[in-house]
Amino acid sequence: NEITSVVSTHVLETPDFPSEGVLFRDFTPLFCDGSAFARVVDLIAEQVTAKGGVDLVAGIEARGFLLCAAIGYKLGAGVVPIRKAGKLPAPTVTESYALEYAEATIEIGPHAVNKGDRVLLVDDVLATGGTMVAAATLMRKLGAEVVDSWVLLEIEALGGAKAMQAADLTFNTAMT
Ligand code: IMP
Repeated sequence: NEITSVVSTHVLETPDFPSEGVLFRDFTPLFCDGSAFARVVDLIAEQVTAKGGVDLVAGIEARGFLLCAAIGYKLGAGVVPIRKAGKLPAPTVTESYALEYAEATIEIGPHAVNKGDRVLLVDDVLATGGTMVAAATLMRKLGAEVVDSWVLLEIEALGGAKAMQAADLTFNTAMT
């Protein structure tokens, strides 16, 4: 379909980054191409609207910010930046999750979300799903409802779909 062909023709693949054996996918070519980026944002927004819309679009630092701002604007929804640890003044709501050899922490301010808000989560890539599930946990801690999520790419071999399902989360991806 159209979103898959636009996204898959605007990705840069770099082997062995950030470490040996990892194929890094960079969507800078999509963000840099005004008409391609607008088309992808419009197609995602259309599908979100068709499913009933959202109050807020939450994006995960840093590439998720680019997507959430554009999608939120298109939908007339608010935008919530989900930050990496240490960027926000207290008080914050935080959630930690396991990486392969370490732990990561993300956080938001307590006033970013209201109880009952319908939230869409967005990021560039779904890999193990750890980041997206932690983001959903943050939203749920504040009483918001995560109604759906979108990524540009799901790396299927890393099991994100299973992790999302186990956390009772749905997601859409432009490409796998
Ligand atoms: P996960 O938590 O394992 O699902 O990893 C997803 C997070 O890592 C997202 O915030 C992505 O931005 C980042 N990520 C993982 N792999 C890639 C990649 O190949 N390109 C860009 N970002 C990636």
